Amino acid sequence: MPELPEVETVRRRLEPGLVGRTFERVEISDPRLTRPFDHVEVAAELEGERVAAVDRRGKYLIVRFETGRALLIHLRMTGNVLHVEPGTLLSGDPHRRAVVRLDDGSDVVYRDVRRFGTWLLAEPDEIEPYLAARLGGEPLAAAFTAKRLAEALADRRAPVKAAILDQRRIAGIGNIYADEALWRARIHPQRPAGELHLGELRALHRGIRAALKAGIERQGATLRDYRTPDGRSGRMQHEFKVYGRQGEPCPRCGRPIEKIRAAGRGTWFCPGCQPLGDPTHNGYA
Ligand SMILES: [Zn+2]
Repeated sequence: MPELPEVETVRRRLEPGLVGRTFERVEISDPRLTRPFDHVEVAAELEGERVAAVDRRGKYLIVRFETGRALLIHLRMTGNVLHVEPGTLLSGDPHRRAVVRLDDGSDVVYRDVRRFGTWLLAEPDEIEPYLAARLGGEPLAAAFTAKRLAEALADRRAPVKAAILDQRRIAGIGNIYADEALWRARIHPQRPAGELHLGELRALHRGIRAALKAGIERQGATLRDYRTPDGRSGRMQHEFKVYGRQGEPCPRCGRPIEKIRAAGRGTWFCPGCQPLGDPTHNGYA
């Protein structure tokens, strides 16, 4: 499932080809994509809109138009956005859900195997309230300090992994980067979030940012469906420290990585450097 680094990679690749271009013709073939709004009407509304910016907030891709409206795209499980040269659109792709013809003749193609992705055309005054109701702090923004993270996790009895997956607390982290961030911070995924002490919160803040930045530098992680807009795979999957690596040695201490369930998700961690007990009691502080 695409997380912040994958969506940011898509944003960076799309931006130069989209900004200043007009949506000349829009075909949405899957009614689920725009629910509860009618897909034919949304497509008609999008025609003629000129792109002012391509932004990202959490896992949302935001195509902002000069009219002030925005198309909020959420890729969910298997959505991906491709930008293809004029005349290269392949016919007969069963997973294609929408195609936007730009005024330079190129096509923006939206594919989605599982069909959980969404497109929402938002009016200018709807955009920020919609995002604010769903998303907490942006982890790579300068405003996201260790103090902000501490405030987001304070008084939470939930395991820290569940807390950092909660998009309303911190935006953009999913299962992969949660495990990678906790390993970097040497924090067990099942530690209660509200019990982390200051040193651990600082380490987690650094760990989250480092894990996300590593993902962006490698154009995201391709486990199955994720592709960059030019159709390439990401490379982050070759560099996971713990995710998906049960039985392999921890890159830091050599103990075998274990897999458990935490926050209802498959979770990988190192029992050597991510102990469950309070680290002030076992010498890890
Ligand atoms: Zn270790």
